[in-house]
Amino acid sequence: VRRVVVVGAGMAGVQTAVSLREHEFSGSITLLGAEPHHPYDRPPLSKSVLLGSADGSAFDVDFAGLGIELLLGQHADAVRPAERQVATARGTVPYDRLVIATGAEPVTLPGAVGVPGVHMLRTLDDANALRPVLAAKRQVVVVGAGWIGAEFATAARESGCEVTVVEAAERPLAGVLPAEIAAPMRGWYEEAGVRLLTGATVAGVEPGAVVLADGTRLPAGAVVVGIGARPTTGWLAGSGIELDAQRAVRADDRLRTSVPGILAVGDCASFPSARYGERLLIHHWDNAVQGPRTAAGNLLGGDEPYDPVPYFWSEQFGRFVQYAGHHTDADQILRRGDPDGPAWSVCWLRDGALVALLAVGRPRDLAQGRKLIERGALLDPSAAADPSVPLKSA
Ligand code: FAD
Repeated sequence: VRRVVVVGAGMAGVQTAVSLREHEFSGSITLLGAEPHHPYDRPPLSKSVLLGSADGSAFDVDFAGLGIELLLGQHADAVRPAERQVATARGTVPYDRLVIATGAEPVTLPGAVGVPGVHMLRTLDDANALRPVLAAKRQVVVVGAGWIGAEFATAARESGCEVTVVEAAERPLAGVLPAEIAAPMRGWYEEAGVRLLTGATVAGVEPGAVVLADGTRLPAGAVVVGIGARPTTGWLAGSGIELDAQRAVRADDRLRTSVPGILAVGDCASFPSARYGERLLIHHWDNAVQGPRTAAGNLLGGDEPYDPVPYFWSEQFGRFVQYAGHHTDADQILRRGDPDGPAWSVCWLRDGALVALLAVGRPRDLAQGRKLIERGALLDPSAAADPSVPLKSA
């Protein structure tokens, strides 16, 4: 292998390039990114960057020193596997091995595209466009009570904005957590002074207002749409690279795509998990760090499966929320601590083994639980039920 091209200069692309050097790959590495900015990290965009307490979140990576060529502000338009080339508006980029790391793009709200005052929150440009909204303490309507909606609402309230969150489901995080687990989160919105309208469908967005299906007109100095993200894979049309039903690159357990010599990592790719017995598409930061480490090794002749215990965190309404594992086939739920209090955890078990853990303000539970999940350990239920005792195996 002499020339590796990585398309997408987010966390997964950058980590792939850096990992290749860590594996002592001495050939050429080209990192191609559509955004014009020096590669940056996304989680701070809905936190410190939005609040103005950080000016940016550029990765502290010495690309020149590592011999990583950056082609920024260049969109890859197509892959031509027969010629081993990536096509851009400026010409073609040849590769011996290709890594697809084009991440995800926000789902748009029908009727809101192009309406003045409607924002998304995915890129540095998005965050920069929202900073003046917060600084001017505008009245904002947030569509979607998921992770992004909650984090944006938190920052907007902290800045003194009046905030209404409109959610089509009956509760926050409906697609992610079971009803009884997410129930206390409704109170977090109230406590922060955020008006949360659940079971509310947006019928239309016009300059200055969001109109709901029941006719309610919500005045809005700005609208932020946070209704999910989907893999950025449209540019792969015609490449022969197989996609799954969610339009993610369908990778195998080594993160190889259906086309030889091409791998895929991060938010754009799904992979089969032997640990959980299903295909996973993970839109979280840790996966964009861990996957590339495995992919880089496999690209250079290694043969390691990628089967992580998924992990993510969120900072919302003054709380540090963390989750590890995957709970879909759990058969038992154990609570640790009072869900109406400031700090509590939830353990999901299957046949007595810990398979997932949600920790609110209890980072130690997360750290201990994550290790137990990795080991597939049986959980000691009496220790688990007593929040003053560390989580341990039976
Ligand atoms: P991306 O970060 O999306 O990077 C992909 C890059 O590829 C983009 O820069 C894109 O412009 C570029 N690209 C796309 N198509 C092309 C093309 N055809 N040619 C060239 N370039 C292309 N996760 C957590 O676990 N905790 C958090 O607290 C958290 N907070 C977040 C806050 C925000 C505001 C956002 C948006 C995400 C957050 N995440 C968080 C998720 C996490 O940031 C993502 O999982 C991670 O960024 C995925 O990295 P990636 O490199 O796969 O994709």
